[in-house]
Amino acid sequence: MNPPKKTLRQEGSGQASKKKKNPDGKIEINPRFGGQTRFIITTGGVCSSLGKGISTSSIGSIMKACGLKVFVQKLDPYLNVDPGTMSPFQHGEVYVTDDGAETDLDLGHYERFIDEPMSKLSTLTTGQVYRDVLNKERRGDFLGGTIQVVPHITNAIKQGMIDAAEQSGAEIMMVEIGGTVGDIEGEPFLEALRQFKSDLGPERIFHIHLTLLPYLKGSKELKTKPTQISIRELRRIGLEPDMIMARADYKIPKELLDKISRFCGVDRHAVIPAQTVNSIYDVPQNFQKYNVARIISEKLGLGALEPDMTEWEKGRIRYEKAAKSVPIALVGKYTGLEDAYLSVIEATKTAAVYNERKAEIVWIDSEKLEQKDKETWDELKKCKGMIVPGGFGLRGIEGKIAAAKYARTNKVPYLGLCLGSQIMAIEFARAKLKDPQLTSEEFDEDGKIPKSKYLVHFLPGQHKGRAKGGTLRLGAYQCKLKKGTKAYEAYEEANQLGVDDTISERHSHRYEFNNAMRKKLEDKGLIFSGEWPETKLMEIVEIKDHPFMLGSQFHPEFKSRPHRPHPLFAAFMKAVVGK
Ligand code: GLN
Repeated sequence: MNPPKKTLRQEGSGQASKKKKNPDGKIEINPRFGGQTRFIITTGGVCSSLGKGISTSSIGSIMKACGLKVFVQKLDPYLNVDPGTMSPFQHGEVYVTDDGAETDLDLGHYERFIDEPMSKLSTLTTGQVYRDVLNKERRGDFLGGTIQVVPHITNAIKQGMIDAAEQSGAEIMMVEIGGTVGDIEGEPFLEALRQFKSDLGPERIFHIHLTLLPYLKGSKELKTKPTQISIRELRRIGLEPDMIMARADYKIPKELLDKISRFCGVDRHAVIPAQTVNSIYDVPQNFQKYNVARIISEKLGLGALEPDMTEWEKGRIRYEKAAKSVPIALVGKYTGLEDAYLSVIEATKTAAVYNERKAEIVWIDSEKLEQKDKETWDELKKCKGMIVPGGFGLRGIEGKIAAAKYARTNKVPYLGLCLGSQIMAIEFARAKLKDPQLTSEEFDEDGKIPKSKYLVHFLPGQHKGRAKGGTLRLGAYQCKLKKGTKAYEAYEEANQLGVDDTISERHSHRYEFNNAMRKKLEDKGLIFSGEWPETKLMEIVEIKDHPFMLGSQFHPEFKSRPHRPHPLFAAFMKAVVGK
């Protein structure tokens, strides 16, 4: 692994001077990693939703299993600066990193598969690129020059990749380009990739193109034409992929793979059939069956690397054994929308598998609970456990509170995630302090409830410094656990207790528990099992004399991994199966 140091060539009219500062970008790679980082870039063709994120994650996990340090970056061609403000209906969950970036759900896949923390560096959108370039233009950094897509935007994109490689210290940088080849907004990213290839030389970049072979029922066959056209589209831009991954819902005959190789000019052994598998966690092994590690590493001048896939194999067996299904209620407002609760669902499934169960997610619409819809209530009552996930706004809140009441009084295991912890505390307080007006400041939309009734409220100034511009508490914070509680036990058992009984978990919320009411509730049996040491604010609450009723102000789902269930989900699932 010791190729000569490469420097990105300067393009356009700018005169290069200071390293990095120059807006036109004589971009020099940090010599420490610059000579070494290899880039594996994935693009997608034919249509969206082919599982580019899972494929990228899977390749990353294989490279990590070869002993390499892997980092991932998603380049998203849409114009939003980040997905923080995008509707879960359109964009799925907002995945939050340790450093408080609000990102695309694909970053969740990256972390789950590769088990490396992602960061702000892991995402770059058109919105960010243009914002930064235009800010420089306004500052006069371009000295009166004309600002253009090529080179200014493409340079900024390349710089984004270099920065992520340098700062993460990755040996392998996985870069996923969002969207589909042929999209208008994706063009600058593909042009940046084309330049990047010639800047760095062929040994530094491996380009994977993921496509779809549609199935025609009438003739009972898979078709390669869309793949050929997608490759033609790449060629138009000056790109020739090193590997084609062909997605299909049916077994792909060998002749079709030969045909793709011939028509698309990619080595036959680098045409990988990517047939739909049972579990997304089977994808890495499924790819590795075709020796992708060796194909990639040889092209990147790393020798013929072989990954150690033991963990994945163990996982596959574990998954196979988990046949018996267990119904778990997910009480939310986006029912049936898997992507909106992706990490919660993955964390639940993993925890179930570790208990030899298959979690069957039962979608419960909290608004229907509120309307006392009998069918919905019957569905809820059939479930063996209940999860109330995060959320914002007033809609469906009373339904969630009613669900929490049901869980408390009927001793059904309950796990509250962020909003779900606030709901749980409010339900408990209303019942035990006999005050139905108690609520969260967030739910008092027209300000009619006296402030003294806010059990959960907004602490102005609380989040200064951490969340720039916004008022959300975002990212990783410490939480100190109290001995003798279910939370303590859960983390201890999972061997995840840090120094001084602290843990670190990720946050994404605005409102905090009102400590003025803490003592009264403690007296009634609400246990504050975790708190933020610096502020003594509530991080975890649980209920005494209940098999498992616990809520966390943070989002534990972001830190569950397929080979390491999250302690709180694991403890919840144990209670569900009656261990
Ligand atoms: N809406 C609540 C708050 O802002 C909870 C947020 C969440 O569940 N992520 O505090």
